[in-house]
Amino acid sequence: MNHFNYTDGVLCAEDVPLPDIAAAVGTPFYCYSTATLKRHYEAFAEAMDGLETLICFSAKANGNLAVLRTLGNMGAGCDVVSGGELGRALAAGIPASKIVFSGVGKKADELRLAVESGIGQINIESEPELERLNEIALSLGKTAPVAFRVNPDVHAKTHDKITTGRKEDKFGVAWNDAPRLYATADRLDGIDVRGAAVHIGSQITDLDPFEAAFTKVASLVEDLRASGIEIQTIDLGGGLGVPYRRDNDPPPSPAAYGEVVKRTVGGLGCTIMFEPGRVIAANAGVLVSEVVYVKRGETKTFVIIDAAMNDLLRPSMYDAYHHIRPVMEPRPETDLQTYDLVGPICETGDRFAQETLLPPATEGDLVAIMSAGAYGAVMSSNYNARPLIPEVLVDGGEYAIVRKRPPVEELWALESMPEWLESSTDN
Ligand SMILES: *Cc1c(COP(=O)(O)O)cnc(C)c1O
Repeated sequence: MNHFNYTDGVLCAEDVPLPDIAAAVGTPFYCYSTATLKRHYEAFAEAMDGLETLICFSAKANGNLAVLRTLGNMGAGCDVVSGGELGRALAAGIPASKIVFSGVGKKADELRLAVESGIGQINIESEPELERLNEIALSLGKTAPVAFRVNPDVHAKTHDKITTGRKEDKFGVAWNDAPRLYATADRLDGIDVRGAAVHIGSQITDLDPFEAAFTKVASLVEDLRASGIEIQTIDLGGGLGVPYRRDNDPPPSPAAYGEVVKRTVGGLGCTIMFEPGRVIAANAGVLVSEVVYVKRGETKTFVIIDAAMNDLLRPSMYDAYHHIRPVMEPRPETDLQTYDLVGPICETGDRFAQETLLPPATEGDLVAIMSAGAYGAVMSSNYNARPLIPEVLVDGGEYAIVRKRPPVEELWALESMPEWLESSTDN
């Protein structure tokens, strides 16, 4: 469910017509819906009723400060994967105690920042990381709250690039090594062992891999307790999939996922932590773009829009499907045309949709690329010297620009000429 619907023939974000925003901020832009973010967060939280939980929204899915604040105001914490994201979460006003830090390659300065900030939990992914964190915590006269992210060797049955819980993947500590690492950590004065963590991948649309992974974690927690190590938190990561296509079966609901959680780890008396990203944000955002040209090729007709793969990487990176909607609602009797929807970048992969049906397109038309609220703006780049595009947050009948379009000069503001080139512009 989302709050992007046609009202009087015009696609709106909640109560705001998208053409109004386009006229004010220019295209392309990202538009997020507060009501949708809240609804998704609530559905997730309600699915876990009866459990002691901490829901840490994954900032890497959408790190905009206003999005983080919206969710933080509802009680969410944050899952971060870099010092930069930790800084973002803190800047958005998320309390450090509700932040969990994941990632295989946390550098010393990032770990130091985390310990100094009073972070809630650091999910350790290797023995050298454990040793480094211990040294840092001791040097600061603190103890670092820690969970081990374990690799349960479960295939999440999702896209190969976003499955993270097989033993050949780089993530987590090896399953069979976990008991030894917990025993080691328990003896370190800079480390406070608190929990166990897993995250097996993203866009997971089958509950079985979750069930398999969570069952393994439950048995690990029982074994650790039997060996005298106290475990207070279980972090189940993120990964629940969302409907990108209307014609496929919908992915499992948060409620069905919640049943798996309760059945597997619900009886252990732990605080259950979650790191959902996509399921909260994906369908709470759209990318709005304008048609630049309609170009008839020999076998295909291309609708060339002003958004490109640098703005939304998912189609070219993961062959991801995004539903495209015309911003002006087509009349029921309209003859739909078959188009390829492409961006202006010099790469064949710069394509948002192949052979999609749309009403006859003309220059200046607006289209909405749906389900772009997660792994959209955060993955964008300046490729082809294209400035990052604005982000707009709607709440009811109001909207605000929550990231403005930078001046193009900002692209090279940090560049400089070496001395030997400084006076050579005259030839
Ligand atoms: C990416 C990531 C998430 C979020 O995954 P979603 O599929 O967006 O829910 C959570 N935890 C970790 C460690 C991640 O890397």
